[in-house]
Amino acid sequence: MKKLSGILIAVIMVIGLVVGGFSFSETRKHITSNDLQEIEKGFQEEKVVENEDNLKGLEDEFNDKEEMNKEKEENKKHETINTEDGKKPLPNIGDYGQEGHKSSKKVFLTFDDGPTSLTPKILDILKEHDVLATFFVIGKLAEDQPDIVQRTYDEGHMVLPHSYSHDYSIYSTFETFYDDFYRAEEVVENILNIEVPPIFRFPGGSSNHSSFRYGGKQFMPQLTEDIKEKGYYYIDWNVSSGDAGPDYNDKDKMLNNIFQGAKNKDFIVVLCHDVSWNVKMAEILPQVITTLREQGYQFRTFKDITEEELNKMVSLKIANKSIVR
Ligand SMILES: [Zn+2]
Repeated sequence: MKKLSGILIAVIMVIGLVVGGFSFSETRKHITSNDLQEIEKGFQEEKVVENEDNLKGLEDEFNDKEEMNKEKEENKKHETINTEDGKKPLPNIGDYGQEGHKSSKKVFLTFDDGPTSLTPKILDILKEHDVLATFFVIGKLAEDQPDIVQRTYDEGHMVLPHSYSHDYSIYSTFETFYDDFYRAEEVVENILNIEVPPIFRFPGGSSNHSSFRYGGKQFMPQLTEDIKEKGYYYIDWNVSSGDAGPDYNDKDKMLNNIFQGAKNKDFIVVLCHDVSWNVKMAEILPQVITTLREQGYQFRTFKDITEEELNKMVSLKIANKSIVR
């Protein structure tokens, strides 16, 4: 009996030890995973701090002071290299992008009447120079070459409707105009699978005279008021390359048109046409970009246009200009 109870006690002790040890290790595991979560949470919070306040976040992350000091030294060196005569250096030219240096001078390059065989060439040049622009496209051409429209949009440019047919007979009645306009809008939306903003350009611009022989002299004043009431912004330009007129084949004249047109203006919308025969316009484009950049212009696009910029266009009569005749 004594022997039996001895064995029983031994068995109970063994069971007790095993269960106790097991539950202890469970608790440890539990604490450990809790700890991990806490650490992870702390780390994430630190990351947020780092985003909000880079310096503080960075300092928190550096446990190794030596490494931190090395980093500080590097920063100092960097500052010394870039500073000339105590003046803050301008960012690299390449930094004048959409996210880059905020200049008070702005340029919106616009290309009308595409897509054509010239459009890919224009896109290559823009890409090479890290510039984004806006393309006001003709619906029926876009339908034929949706891949170019898609490429344009995918490379960061904005694609907006211009007209479906670009036939000035659209200016006969409100009905003929809106039929054509909505069709153009639909084509762009269907290709890109987006809802385009209510921004477009009238064929010939808002103060065109081509409409005179269709809807008459009072047609554009009435149409512009009507489309404004519908919430649209129609965009004209304050600098023209002249590439839709007799200068289209003369590089010097087009360069002169642009640079004279931009003179004393710190906010410009430049009119160009990516029609297939405008090879000379494509040839001057790199010089136009480089010079405007040197003059301090920041390249902007309607893709991420701000309300402030749109209002500025209205006040400069580049957008929603009232037509009085
Ligand atoms: Zn046009």
